[in-house]
Amino acid sequence: MSENGRLSRFWVQDLTRPAFEDWLENEPEPIVIIGIGAIEQHGIHLPLGTDSLGVHEFIHEIAGRTNSVCIHPCWAGFSPHHMAFPGSVTFSAETLLNILLETIESFAHHGVKRFVMINHHGGNTQTMQLAAQIAKRKYKVMIATPSGPRNTELSKKIRDRMTRYFEVHSGPRETAYALHYFPELVEMWRLENWESGVIIPDQLREYMDPDREDFELVNQVFHASLPPNTEDITRNGQYATSDPRKADPEEAAASMEESIQFIVDFIELWKTVPVPKGYKD
Ligand SMILES: [Zn+2]
Repeated sequence: MSENGRLSRFWVQDLTRPAFEDWLENEPEPIVIIGIGAIEQHGIHLPLGTDSLGVHEFIHEIAGRTNSVCIHPCWAGFSPHHMAFPGSVTFSAETLLNILLETIESFAHHGVKRFVMINHHGGNTQTMQLAAQIAKRKYKVMIATPSGPRNTELSKKIRDRMTRYFEVHSGPRETAYALHYFPELVEMWRLENWESGVIIPDQLREYMDPDREDFELVNQVFHASLPPNTEDITRNGQYATSDPRKADPEEAAASMEESIQFIVDFIELWKTVPVPKGYKD
């Protein structure tokens, strides 16, 4: 529904055409939020759809607080690095790029001028940025890919663990996120005899220490030396040398709220900036 531009439902697929038209005509600065994630192995205890299931909740909450329409155009993303593990589904980068571009093109065709893209899977980052760059030019629309905040105590604490313990995939951070958003799909009992499956050579492990004075240098060497495929980084599909049983869903709830509010603030502020001439048809 939408009345005088105010939506009461936010997923595009839930709206009637007149409701969408009402929103487009009467919301002063209509914004479409596009979310992407992945279908890929997430260790032994998290669902294959972890990234997509989470981004689904995340963008819907932001849409609700900003009177925006949201869309999650595809469940899979760019995950070739996980294909040694069953259940992973990957698109090529070209396919993902085209899904994003054609989604934007469709809304642009009907007059939407502002888009926010939100990504919850590291493997999609470059493709999303490329889509943003191409779409701006091709369809003359404003595109933002906001993320943050980076300066709060909580976000610094989490980022420190991501570096120190390589908590990027299926470790405590992501387990907490899953326990916050979809606890019914998490199988913690599978972790009874958990041990780290990470097989990174000792030399590279030393480069993970953010307390080193030469960290800026060694961290870049670390990333330049990681093999491309998950099975050469970890035996069990879980990156992170830290124990996922230590996941704290309350921390994840606080962290997600911080990020949601940051993007809501971004959108509210962005709406005060008129569409520049360069984007006019
Ligand atoms: Zn993930």
